[in-house]
Amino acid sequence: MSRDNFSPAGGRYSRISLVTDLDLPTIRLSRICVVGAGALGNEVLKNMVLYGPKKLTVVDNDRVEKSNLGRCFLFTSSDARAGRKKADAAIESLGRMNEEVELEALASDARELDDEFFSGFDAVAGCVDNISSRLHINSNCYHRNIPYVDGGLDGLMGRVQVVIPPSGACYQCSLNATHMAVLDRDFTCTGKEANIHRRRVPAEPSVSAITASIESLEIVKLLSGIQDAGIMYIYNGRKNELDRIEVQIGRECDVHGGVNSENNEA
Ligand SMILES: [Zn+2]
Repeated sequence: MSRDNFSPAGGRYSRISLVTDLDLPTIRLSRICVVGAGALGNEVLKNMVLYGPKKLTVVDNDRVEKSNLGRCFLFTSSDARAGRKKADAAIESLGRMNEEVELEALASDARELDDEFFSGFDAVAGCVDNISSRLHINSNCYHRNIPYVDGGLDGLMGRVQVVIPPSGACYQCSLNATHMAVLDRDFTCTGKEANIHRRRVPAEPSVSAITASIESLEIVKLLSGIQDAGIMYIYNGRKNELDRIEVQIGRECDVHGGVNSENNEA
């Protein structure tokens, strides 16, 4: 890594290096995984690549569609016409932004990734649109002591949760009975995902960018050692308000050995 990049006068990272709260050398040596390359993922990926981490991995199994173009600036009309994999199209754009970053595209369902995969990263950003993927990433990251920052969007509302094992609450700790009912509804009694109609979540580009910025900032903060575990942020775009909530460890959280966990059922 050239020291010229940190020079206050003209290097690529010169202005970021002036932010003394952040540990830029550590961020630049980090391997970061972003799961989901939709509206939120596009924005998180953009922020991450600007920091110049050692490696940035994009995981998404979907293909670019025309309906993505209104909120995903990494994709082009030709990507949509060709039906390119989102992960491939994303890293092509990211490579044009910063050629110094090792970029990796993985066309996979988040729920097919195991804890060994996640152990290859210093931080994981969740930008997915369903609870089962979030639970899968959360439990695998927690098991391997990998920090996980989860993001979600719904219209003018955004949510970011910071999970830093082994301390503090995890994503599953934040779920209530309604969430679990949605999860149950999504799966058949054989454990396979049910083919049901999903609500199309409303997405607004500015709220995507704001929420992704909070998620990205939490990632670079935790890599710099200045973030508390188990915190959730709720952004309300209608009022431009941000709430900071300390999530309590859930009594019934499987990850935390709760009353429903296999350990306790034995
Ligand atoms: Zn938990």
